[in-house]
Amino acid sequence: MYRTPPRAPPAGLEALTELALDLRWTWNHAVDGLWREVDAELWDATHNPWVVLQNVPQARLEQLSGDTAFRERLAAAAGDRQEYLDAPGLYASLWPGDMPAGVAFFSMEFGLSEALPLYAGGLGVLAGDYLKTASDLGVPMTGIGLLYQEGYFRQTIDATGNQREAFPYNDPASLPIQPSVDTEGVWREVEVPLPGRTLRLRVWQAQVGRATLYLLDGNHVLNGPVDRGVTAKLYGGGTELRLLQELVLGVGGWRLLAMLGKQDAVAHLNEGHAALAVLERARQCMHERSVSFRDAWWATRPGNIFTTHTPVAAGFDAFAPALVEKYAQGLLADCKLSLHDLLALGRADPSNDNEPFNMTYLALRGCAQACAVSRLHGEVSRTLFAGLYPRWPVAEVPVRHVTNGVHVPSWDSAPADTLWTVTCGKSRWRGNLACLEAALVACDDTMLWNLAARQRAELVRYVRERLERQLGLRGEGERDRTAAQGVLDPNVLTLGMARRFAEYKRMNLLLHDPQRLARLLTNPAHPMQLIVAGKAHPDDTEGKRQVQAWVAFARRPEVAGRVVFLEDYDLALAQRLVQGVDVWLNTPRRPWEACGTSGMKTLVNGGLNVSTLDGWWAEAYDDACGWAIAGPGGDAEDAESLYGLLENEIVPCFYERDAHGVPAGWVRRMRASMSRLAPRFSSNRMLLDYLEDFYLPATRGLRRRAQRHELASWAGQVSAHWHEARLGDVEVVLDGHAWRFRAQAYLGGVQLGWVRAELYADERDGMPRQCVPMQGGAPISGAIHGYEFEATLPAIRPASDYTVRLRPWHDDAFLPAELPLVIWQR
Ligand SMILES: *Cc1c(COP(=O)(O)O)cnc(C)c1O
Repeated sequence: MYRTPPRAPPAGLEALTELALDLRWTWNHAVDGLWREVDAELWDATHNPWVVLQNVPQARLEQLSGDTAFRERLAAAAGDRQEYLDAPGLYASLWPGDMPAGVAFFSMEFGLSEALPLYAGGLGVLAGDYLKTASDLGVPMTGIGLLYQEGYFRQTIDATGNQREAFPYNDPASLPIQPSVDTEGVWREVEVPLPGRTLRLRVWQAQVGRATLYLLDGNHVLNGPVDRGVTAKLYGGGTELRLLQELVLGVGGWRLLAMLGKQDAVAHLNEGHAALAVLERARQCMHERSVSFRDAWWATRPGNIFTTHTPVAAGFDAFAPALVEKYAQGLLADCKLSLHDLLALGRADPSNDNEPFNMTYLALRGCAQACAVSRLHGEVSRTLFAGLYPRWPVAEVPVRHVTNGVHVPSWDSAPADTLWTVTCGKSRWRGNLACLEAALVACDDTMLWNLAARQRAELVRYVRERLERQLGLRGEGERDRTAAQGVLDPNVLTLGMARRFAEYKRMNLLLHDPQRLARLLTNPAHPMQLIVAGKAHPDDTEGKRQVQAWVAFARRPEVAGRVVFLEDYDLALAQRLVQGVDVWLNTPRRPWEACGTSGMKTLVNGGLNVSTLDGWWAEAYDDACGWAIAGPGGDAEDAESLYGLLENEIVPCFYERDAHGVPAGWVRRMRASMSRLAPRFSSNRMLLDYLEDFYLPATRGLRRRAQRHELASWAGQVSAHWHEARLGDVEVVLDGHAWRFRAQAYLGGVQLGWVRAELYADERDGMPRQCVPMQGGAPISGAIHGYEFEATLPAIRPASDYTVRLRPWHDDAFLPAELPLVIWQR
């Protein structure tokens, strides 16, 4: 059912409403022309069909309703949409019916379009790309987020170069969303109990192709005046407001899912903000099945997956115990939990009463599977979380990784898209993207170079226009605005650098030696130009100083026209930049960039990356595809390395032309980067990884646990008696070319069937980490609960590499995540 916008379109144009409300228009540009025809001025100013539809004069609509040709085009567009919605999708062909309740993706931010500003940066853009990909591949996915009435701030720069923050009100009526109503047409509402009151949340929904995003909104007339602002701002306010927002997302979000009948969904928590969902899920299961909270916790945990995005402990959300106590009263009484036991779930050391309540730890404890966002971030995360898995080798800390990817059709330029359509066909983005490689084989050097030139020229045009508008809004005079029309040069090597001005991203690294940078920019024969954009968090004075430094640098007369700082970095600007730059520059301080995705967005358009070996670039980089800033990590050394690369490699490579005017070395890199990296760092690959490695095991785990209920009691008994178990003598003999190990174990009250003995060897001298289950379990005569285990293995490495260990074992458990106990041979 669709809300009318606010009037019903005239007869024959009804399909405009469904097209405007399906955010597929953010990545499928086939109907752009249609909207432009409805109202060119509105379309050019907003690129938002919903706004076009709301504001187009009635007379124009009447006119179009009488225009047969237009009506036919509209019918074709609606037909194309229906075909997209009905197509089975890659998921259905690979895993039909395997996840009946689908996946619920919880995120504090969703970056789908600048027309729906519910994001601050990469976390949100990733979430947006994820939903779009789920739609393309037909993966049953529901997004759960918050509707911020003011969103994240909008940036302007004043005449002295200072960042100013504006919070324009996002009138829900003008956003491309609609009230979420039940089968009787009643507006859905979710209640979250708070101390002394009930918080009421209105539910909105956004259509993202086949996926639906539900948005919770605290601006309900029955809420108190302060509560009505709970979901006003993204990342604004203090700790208590943050906790309230996380209650809305986790508890409110889970209640909404249950209301929709999706209690058996796989819950995917995008960062720790939504961790409270695991508590609410267990609480509801406890009531449904009339079991204890503990049983419900074990029954539901396989269905929860946690993705961590933060590579430093200081980045985790943590709350003072007193604050948690204030909001947890109802939960504690309902679940018969003690405050101590609840807090223990969010502490690295459960017995340490001084530790705050950490959402990341809660997520790790409440999710059977956890995941980092790049290979390097996986390593960093395992080290960070090692304290939660005492005595486990860091390599076995149960956090794997799926490297992020980007939704290619949201980031490719129109000419790049055309190129791929010609060579790959219409469904090119709906599979594993292997077609890209074939497409490039069919493309000669001149075609690729022309693509780059066209994209650069289009970017230059866009930057001039945007800069002129920016200056106009600031009230600059005619002369400055006219000068904007002369900035940049469509034939000059163009670098882009845009992201949040967070400290670790070192947006000022290139400014380390301003004179040297100026020389690069103004080299008469081989110049370079630079486009910079990004917001600093309103409380980040250092970030704001760096914004100011860039604005000041761009105003220096000697670099005039070669450097542009564009205000208000958002999705629309990001799209333009990644489509037009030759080089995307990223300078994070290793290992602070968990993944980074902006550089991936340039791949499909042939942009090349220059970055420190952090996040995704640490696994993507090879010298055929781009460049690595290989300093040792200090700012001065990294800056030196970056200048060196620009001066000695990047600039010369760009300007070294063959007889046809083509830089062969550059185009070779474009080709390698596009064909090798674009498919690998696409969100199609990412989502398929999550499906196989996380979602399907989660669904199977949930199903098995619904059939077998003994896991909680198994874990309870193992834990209660674990201190009684110990390992005794270990013997090893060389038997031909094999080591034969025998180990004795005394289990006390732990039953033989509850454990597994293993031989463990660390990675050493080029030999991989190894873990070999031991057989047997014959009773040791004369001993009480003493057993003998043995294992035979080829004597390839020294016997001293191996250690015997004893660990809880259950075929249905996710281990060691769910019960991280272990005993090592002494
Ligand atoms: C992709 C994107 C980001 C994330 O970029 P990183 O370089 O990964 O930090 C942030 N903001 C916008 C608008 C984006 O499009």
